[in-house]
Amino acid sequence: MPLSILLNGAKGRMGEAIARTAGELGLSIGAALDAGDDVAHHLPTTDVIIDFSSHRATPALLDLAVTHRKPIVIGTTGHSADEKAHLMKIAGKVPCVWAGNFSVGVNLLFALTRRASAVLGSDYDAEVVEMHHRFKKDAPSGTAARLLEIILEERKLDASALRHGREGITGERTAGEVGIHALRGGDVVGDHTVMFAALGERIELTHKASDRGIFARGALRAAQWIVHQPAGVYDMQDVLGLK
Ligand code: NAD
Repeated sequence: MPLSILLNGAKGRMGEAIARTAGELGLSIGAALDAGDDVAHHLPTTDVIIDFSSHRATPALLDLAVTHRKPIVIGTTGHSADEKAHLMKIAGKVPCVWAGNFSVGVNLLFALTRRASAVLGSDYDAEVVEMHHRFKKDAPSGTAARLLEIILEERKLDASALRHGREGITGERTAGEVGIHALRGGDVVGDHTVMFAALGERIELTHKASDRGIFARGALRAAQWIVHQPAGVYDMQDVLGLK
C-alpha cells in the first residue's frame, strides 16, 4: 500500500514543490491542507504528516500528531530557540524528522562545516552569509541557524558569540565572535556560505540551491524513512546515514 501523506502548507511554494515531486515519484498526497483546513478530520486515514507552513502552525500540529500517534516531518522554520526547545520535547513523543534543510548537498555542507570548525582554530574567523528570495519571512534561515549551531558546538561557544549583521562603530572583530548576515532579494531559492578567514588565507564552503525540488525530494525521502522508526526526534543526517 502506498503511504498516505498529509501535506500541511500545501498552497505554499514548498507545498506545491512537494505535491509535484510526489507525483513524479509515484507517491500520493492523501490530504493537501493549508491555513484554516481541519487537520484532525484527515488524520485517521493519514500514515505520515509533512509540514512546510508557518512556525505559528507547529505547536497545534504537533499536539495533533501526538494525540493521533502519527509520524511527522517538519520542514517549517522560524521558531525561536526557546520555542524550538519546548517543541522538541513534544516532538519526541512520536517519530519525527525535524530539519532546517532537507537537501543532500546542504547536509554534506553541515558535515564539512563541522570538520572545518574542528580543524581550524579560533584564529580562523567564522562568518555565515545566506541569501534567499524576497518573500522569505524569517531570518536568519533555518539552515544558517544550524550552521551556526555546529560552529558554536565545535568551538564550545554559546549564542552570545553570535553577531547578527554589524553596524556603526563595532570595534575590531574579536576572536570569539561568529557573524551571520542575511541577504534578501529576487527569487533566490537559498544560498549559504560558511567562511573561515585567517591572516593570509580564507576558506569558503558554499552551497547554492536553484530548485525547491531538492528539499521536496529530501522531505519525501524522510517521510518514507520515518514511518519505520521508533518515537524520537531525528534530523536529515539520520535519514541519510551521515552520522
Ligand atoms: P510560503 O509562504 O510560500 O507557504 C507557506 C504556506 O503555509 C502558505 O500556503 C500558507 O497559507 C500556509 N500556512 C500558513 N499558516 C498555516 C497554518 N496555520 N496551517 C496550515 N498552513 C498554513 O512558504 P514556503 O517558501 O513554502 O516555506 C514554508 C516553510 O518552509 C517556511 O518556514 C520556510 O522557511 C520553510 N522551508 C524549509 C525548507 C527545509 O528544507 N527545511 C526549505 C524551504 C522552505
